[in-house]
Order: sequence, then C-alpha cells, then structure tokens
Amino acid sequence: MRITTLLLAVSLLSGQGPSFKSHFTGQTMRVDYQHSGIATQEHYALEQIKVEGEWPGRRAELAPRSTLGPYRYEISDAATGALLFAEGFASIYGEWETTQEAADSIWRSFSETLRFPEPRRPVKLTIRKRDADNRFRQVYQVAIDPGSRQVNRASITPRGKVWVLFENGPPADKVDILVLGDGYRKKDRRLFHKDVQQLMERLFSTEPFRSRKSDFNVRAIDLPAAQAGVSRPRSGVWRDSPLALSYNALDSERYMLTYANSAVRDIAAQAPYDAIIMIANSDKYGGGGIYNLYATSAAHNEQSAYVVIHEFGHSFAGLGDEYYSSSVAYLSFDAKGVEPWAPNITALLNPELLKWRASVDKSTPLPTPWDQAAYDTLANEYQRRRVALRSAGAPESDLEALFKEQQERLDPLLAAEPYFGSVGAFEGAQYQGQGLYRPEANCIMFTRYSRFCQVCSRAIEQRIDSYIR
Ligand SMILES: [Zn+2]
Repeated sequence: MRITTLLLAVSLLSGQGPSFKSHFTGQTMRVDYQHSGIATQEHYALEQIKVEGEWPGRRAELAPRSTLGPYRYEISDAATGALLFAEGFASIYGEWETTQEAADSIWRSFSETLRFPEPRRPVKLTIRKRDADNRFRQVYQVAIDPGSRQVNRASITPRGKVWVLFENGPPADKVDILVLGDGYRKKDRRLFHKDVQQLMERLFSTEPFRSRKSDFNVRAIDLPAAQAGVSRPRSGVWRDSPLALSYNALDSERYMLTYANSAVRDIAAQAPYDAIIMIANSDKYGGGGIYNLYATSAAHNEQSAYVVIHEFGHSFAGLGDEYYSSSVAYLSFDAKGVEPWAPNITALLNPELLKWRASVDKSTPLPTPWDQAAYDTLANEYQRRRVALRSAGAPESDLEALFKEQQERLDPLLAAEPYFGSVGAFEGAQYQGQGLYRPEANCIMFTRYSRFCQVCSRAIEQRIDSYIR
C-alpha cells in the first residue's frame, strides 16, 4: 500500500515537468525588447535584461504544450536544449500590424516585456508566432547568461506607495492582480483607493471570480500625477501622466492603452504581479485589454466596472471579443479557414471537433439558430444614434444613457432566444457577422451583459488554476 502511494506521488511530480528549484533561483527575470515592423515584415531587438523581485507565478507545469495567444515564448536550457518554461501572449504590435498604418508601410516600434523565473544556468529565449495555419514558427531567439554583467541587478526604486486591497496567501500560490492608477493627483489618493475598492468589488462579485476570490491577491500602487486625467489626442487633451495611458490607441475612439512599456514595468516591479489592471482618472468611456499584457479602463464612467471585467477577460484569460457590430481599427483579425486561438471563438470548421464540444447538449444544433436579423436591426439603430451623438459633441452622460437603453432592450431580446442559456455555436463573433461563432446567445464578451457564458467562465477558471498549481 505504501509503495503504491509512493509511486503515485513520484509519477505526479514527474508529470509537472522540469522541477522549479533545480532550474530557477526563485527571482523574476525580465527581458525588454523592441518589436518593430510594417505589415509585411517584423523585427526584434534586445533592450535590457533585469532581475526584479520574487517570481510570483506558477512553479508547476512550467512548460505547457499548448498556450493561448498569437505568440509564445520559451525558455530552454542552453546546454541540453530542454524546454524549461513556456507562456503565451499577445501584444500591441500584434494588433497594430493589422491596421491601415502598417499596410501603408509606415514603420512603428513598440517596447515589449517578457517575464519568467530567473534561470540558474545559461538559457535561450525563443519567441514563436502563429503562422496563417496557426502553427508556431520561430521569429526571434536570444541567448541569456544569467551570470553575465549584461543582466541589470539594481534594486528596485520605489516609484509610489504599494498597498494591499486583500491578500489570501503567498504570491507563488495565488493570482496576483496589481491595480495601477493614472492621472490621479496627490490629493486624489482617497478617490483612487475608493475606485480600486469599488471596481474590484464588482469584478469579484462576477462569476467565476466570485467563487475563486480566495485564489487571488489584489494590491495597488499610489502614483501621484501632476495633472488630473490622461491624454485624449482626438480632443487635443495631453497629459504627461505616470503610466502615459491614452485614449484613441491605434487611432480608435474608445481604445485606451499605454505605449510606455518600460516605465509601466519599472513601476509595477515594486509589487509581485501576475496581471496588471490600469484605471484612469477619467469619466470618458474607454478601455482595452491584451492577453498577458494588461487591462485598462476609465474609472468614472457608468460602464467602468463592466469595462474592467470585459477587458480583464481579454488580458487574463485570452478571451476574444464575441461582438461584431462595433467599429474597430483592425482590418482583418483572423485568416479565413483558420480556427481562432481564443478559447471562446470558433470558425466551426468541423462541428465534431468543436473545442467546447463537451459542453454542448446533444439536442442543440450546430451552428445554433438565433434571430441575428433582429439583433442587427437593434444594434445598427444604436450604432447610428451613437455616431450622431458623438459628432454632435454630446456630453458623456448622453452616451451613457444610450448604452443603458440599448442594453435594456438587448437583454430581453437575447433571453427570448430558444437556445438562450445553452452552449452551442451562434454565428457572429470577433468583428465578423459571418464565419465566426460564439458559445452562447449572450455573454460579457458579446454585450454589456452581467454574466460570462459557460465557455468563458471555464477558460477563466483554467487560467486561475494555471497560476495556483
Ligand atoms: Zn463568452
């Protein structure tokens, strides 16, 4: 009996891949590089290598075979070639390369960061990118010797005060969320604390975060800004704010990102973090979320909590947008005939192999019928009214009222669908009315609904599990 138990324990351990302690020091290594290009070519160039703080991420399953995101980075032992660590990610560059600017051959460069446990011995960092057939091909490789004088081991300069919203355990065993605020002046400190509290309360009252709250730690950093608010280029508003958050990212009206990657990373390095949420001291609707990078939102809009939850769905769990009726900057997101990598979007190339097939009831047809025409009529009406309000320079409160009115009509419309609440494949997802499908009639990733669909919920839970086991 004892022998059986021992064997079981040994096989469980070996199933976890390379052992953490024999390969890694327990600190975090951070590699910054420039990612430049145009639509037809891209280049990578090393910026800096740093060691910063305790590794807050997982210590088991370090090199999963499959990862989410258009990119994947791998750390392999330089001497043996053994794969030690792998993780998926998306990037601003990866979105920018689908825009008109990139198609027009206007070169741009973005700073990006990859973090992984500091290796004990020399390693190779390899970046792979999915090709048109969804297969990862190598796009960059660099040798890293952790003993080299090229590795910056300077201690971290405090750039703001770190505080704890709640802590449930050591960083290595929990998902560590770090909330950063931009455009909050010194006198706005209490406002920032209240915003963090309220927005995180809404996130953790939404399933599956609600049931899994004890698997999370949430910390925040006070970062006094000289002026209130963040940049809004389309309105001629400019701010030199600590995180350099800005609306109109990729020239898109409501898209809020920062391109100041190194500055954000230097600030974040003060606290252990697996995921960053940035909130802006602003009432204008906006936000953004990129897988394994960060989520952003304006803090003082009626939709702020919804935006935080939706964008965190992108940045934390790699969920794709299930909507298709809003205007976005991307010219084309997925090649035709290729299954998207997002766990909640499918091209339904083979219904038998549908990635969420196990959740589909036998009685639910694939594709699943729904009244797309009725939805389109309603969505188009509000799209027209929104454009009219914006071009007339209407106050933000009018736009908020319109969002609310639209959702009050959309919720019952979708709830009346015969397959509402069932998992199937509903046509219309990820910016395309045809050819891409979402798992349920309604979801936080589709409309400003209050719940994640079952497939999105499961994807979030799998991501939580990957951090705590
Ligand atoms: Zn969903």
